[in-house]
Amino acid sequence: MAPHGGQRPRLREVIAQTCALVAPRQCPCGQEGTWLCAHCATLLEAAPRRVESSCDALQVLAAARVHKEHHAGLTLPAGVDHRSLLPVLALGEYGGNLQRMVLAWKNGGMLHLGARIAPALAPAVAQLAAAADVPVPGLVPVPSRRSVRLRRGEDHTAELVRAIERTGTGQALLLRARPTTAQDGQGARQRRARRIHLAGGRARAAGRRSQPVIIVDDVVTTGATLRGMHDALSTAGMQVLGAVVVAAARLPPSPSGPDAAA
Ligand SMILES: [Zn+2]
Repeated sequence: MAPHGGQRPRLREVIAQTCALVAPRQCPCGQEGTWLCAHCATLLEAAPRRVESSCDALQVLAAARVHKEHHAGLTLPAGVDHRSLLPVLALGEYGGNLQRMVLAWKNGGMLHLGARIAPALAPAVAQLAAAADVPVPGLVPVPSRRSVRLRRGEDHTAELVRAIERTGTGQALLLRARPTTAQDGQGARQRRARRIHLAGGRARAAGRRSQPVIIVDDVVTTGATLRGMHDALSTAGMQVLGAVVVAAARLPPSPSGPDAAA
């Protein structure tokens, strides 16, 4: 028979386990007892990095030379030059604990992580806005396919944009945007830009006043979605300053410049 006093630690253990079931505090990296451990929090303190040069779908033809050319003392070889369609800033590479954090936030029911991610993206928004001399740009989330199936309010990129707005660096501009379907039968050329359809009076009004906007997304891979969004917003008349994402599938080989990729 256990002594009477032995019941109390057991009871405490049961209570602790029950509470853990109700609110299992755990960092996406696995550390228990916290929603975001100190190590993962430092991932959000990273200075934003330019990543557009490693996004294939964002490269556009800038110049083409059939023969070698000479300009102002420089010799340009025959070939083509590419430039990136728009600047894209990311906090880091999509891998390891940053990837776990993004997945827990967008798929794992940990929407509250958006409140930690938003302030981390605010400097990137401010950087793009300052480069264009725009005080408060509009923040446009990419349309999420999942959001069609989920309840309103569970669209994580729209929530993120609202949370960034609370930092004062931008203004949420939630447009009725949806990706067009019928991607599968298209050739590689068309797939480079995911076509996105904008609708509604808010988009038309923002277009009429040439509203400066920044696109917000979770992860950039090829950049096809950002390109589709850029094209839709530009066609509507808005001025796209760039895009801000949490993570990029690939980082440029060196921060020194896009030429490093050659
Ligand atoms: Zn962690």
